[in-house]
This record gives sequence, C-alpha cells and structure tokens, in this order.
Amino acid sequence: MFNRINKHLAFKITREDNNRINFLDLTIIRNKNNIEVNIYRKETSTDTVIHYFSNHPIEQKMAAFRYYINRLLTLPLTQDGTNTEWTTILNMAKNNGFPIERITRLKTQMVKNLQHKKPENNTKRWTTFTYYGPAVRKITNLFKYSAIGIAFRTTNTIFKQLTKGKNEQTTPSGIYKIKCNTCNTVYMGQTGRGINTRYKEHIRYIKSNNPQSAYAIHILRNRHEYGPENETLQLIRPCAKGTRMNSWEAMMIQYHHHRESLITEQQPYDHNPLYICIQESRSQTDYRSTIATRPATDTSTRHADIT
Ligand SMILES: [Zn+2]
Repeated sequence: MFNRINKHLAFKITREDNNRINFLDLTIIRNKNNIEVNIYRKETSTDTVIHYFSNHPIEQKMAAFRYYINRLLTLPLTQDGTNTEWTTILNMAKNNGFPIERITRLKTQMVKNLQHKKPENNTKRWTTFTYYGPAVRKITNLFKYSAIGIAFRTTNTIFKQLTKGKNEQTTPSGIYKIKCNTCNTVYMGQTGRGINTRYKEHIRYIKSNNPQSAYAIHILRNRHEYGPENETLQLIRPCAKGTRMNSWEAMMIQYHHHRESLITEQQPYDHNPLYICIQESRSQTDYRSTIATRPATDTSTRHADIT
C-alpha cells in the first residue's frame, strides 16, 4: 500500500538473513539461547567528522567521539563487537587528525563518569556564544564557576556556504523615496533591508489591493500610476537601522511636507525646528541643488555622496 503513494518511493521489507538483521545503527543477531547486538554501519557510511584542526570549539569536535564512545560503553555489545567498534573509533580519530591519546583519555573519563553518575543539575541556564576562534574562550571562561552553561555556535556552516549570495541585498538599506508618476509627489520611507526589497513590497501591496503602506494607499485611492523602479525609487541616504535612520526619515518627511511634495496619505511627525536649521545650513552648500531637485533625475549615488 505504501508503494502506491508515489512512484519514486519504494518501501521494501528487510528480512532476517543468516539469523541477523540490521536495525537503525544496530545489527541484531539471534543465537540459540540469546540475542546479541553489534554496531551496524551502512556500507555507504564514511568516517568523516569535524577535523581536529578545524576552527571549531573543542566540545563540538569531540562531540562525535563522545557519542560513539557512549554508545560503545552503554550498549550490551559482545566482546568482539566492542573491540571492533573501538578500533573503528580510533581509525576515525586518526583519519581526522585527532591525537589518539585524546580519544583514549576521553574514554577513560567517560568510563569513570558512568561509574559515579552525578545527579543532573537542572538549575543550570544556558547561553550561546559565537565561536570566532580560541579568543572567545577567554570570555566564556569567566562564566566557569557560575550557574550559566556556555554553548558555542559557529558561523562557517554548510548552510551558510550553500545559501551565500542568495539573500545578499543588491541595494543598500537606508532612507528612500518613491515617486508617484501621476502627481509627482513622493513617499519617504526607511528600511533596514535593501531598498529594492522594500520597494517590491510596496508594489505587492498595490497589486493585491492591500492598504499596508501609505504609498500603496495613494496609488490605489487616486488611481495614480507607479513605476518603473529605476525611475521612481531613489536612495536618499544609505544608513543602518536605528535612531539615526529614524531622524533622517523624520527630517526628510518634514522637508517634503513643507514643500507640499509629500503624498497626503503619509503623516508627518511632530514638527521639529532643528531639522530646519540643519536644512538651512545644508542649503548653503549645494544641498538644495541635489535633494530639492524634483522630479528625481539625479542618480541615487550622487545623493548618497552628498547627504
Ligand atoms: Zn499621485
């Protein structure tokens, strides 16, 4: 029945062969009077773990071995099975650059721990640090005698490698304006993402008749025209999210509001006389000739340089 779900999925039954069957990571052997278990690895399994010289916290590098040794010590393996598994573990260590005595020491330690099992301490709280290199440990060592447990996170993951570039923004974040093609008024906005990403969002609102942004409301309500992006979207000031960005946005909104070039759907913030001072001092320079020019014919980079 399972095999009818999808033609690419085929389930098959594994049957006992020669009194043994593999189940998950175990081989189960049926003898006359008892059942034995041994570690089972698929033929395709490799012995690759994080390399000893990789820039990872030592805890993460040892984690695989901790797991293998714990499995070795806690499963009721046969003597032969135990020996084979221990040889496999040591080979794995050798192939990944680990000093053998580090692994044998870990095993001794773990045997000892199993014999005197400490009661679990559940009051411990955990926090995460990003592991850039051994220097990070200087900081985390400060927590050694506190009730805070330290876990490490690494930055150079396969996921990061594979997804690189996909989310990279093509335009900077900052203060932007979008022009209405019909009445030439502008909408001022800010975004911590790429401004073209934010622009596309405004356009989506328009297309889906969604009054989520003042710009979308303006276009929808007045049946005005928008786009294309390269003619109507303009970067006013590249900056990162924060109070600086908020101030720049408020100042630009006030500026356009005074000149009556702001779309009426956008509410200005409370009037701030400081912004006028800043603008006046700036208009002594060639500020006015660039920012104040409408419609937007300047390139965004020129704005970025001057503001
Ligand atoms: Zn308009």
